[in-house]
Amino acid sequence: MTHYICMGGCGGVSEESGICEADGCANQYELLEECACVDGKHGKKEAVEDVLVVKDSNGTKLNDGDDVVLIKDLTLRGTSTTFKRGTKVTGIRLTGNAEEVDCKLGGSAIVLRTEFLKKV
Ligand SMILES: [Zn+2]
Ligand SMILES: [Zn+2]
Repeated sequence: MTHYICMGGCGGVSEESGICEADGCANQYELLEECACVDGKHGKKEAVEDVLVVKDSNGTKLNDGDDVVLIKDLTLRGTSTTFKRGTKVTGIRLTGNAEEVDCKLGGSAIVLRTEFLKKV
């Protein structure tokens, strides 16, 4: 059923259109917004954190186990080891961070930034 909600933070819900009357609400005296949700969540907080999309430098989606190549020479932090552009990395692992993946390279477990990777 259609209802009207305040987006100003007071959490106000009304069955009729109108204005927010909550003292101290950021949207006090502003029109309520029409909403037709049935779950009482008013379309907010879709489970965004559950669908972490990890993308390579071209915007291609990366998945667990994908193979990628480096698009840039990368020096392993704290060492003199450099991985050349074009080095193939097999079997990446996604992390909780959309900008980083775990992988094994040269026998070490390292974290690579996705902006330097291209899916193959
Ligand atoms: Zn309000
Ligand atoms: Zn709603």
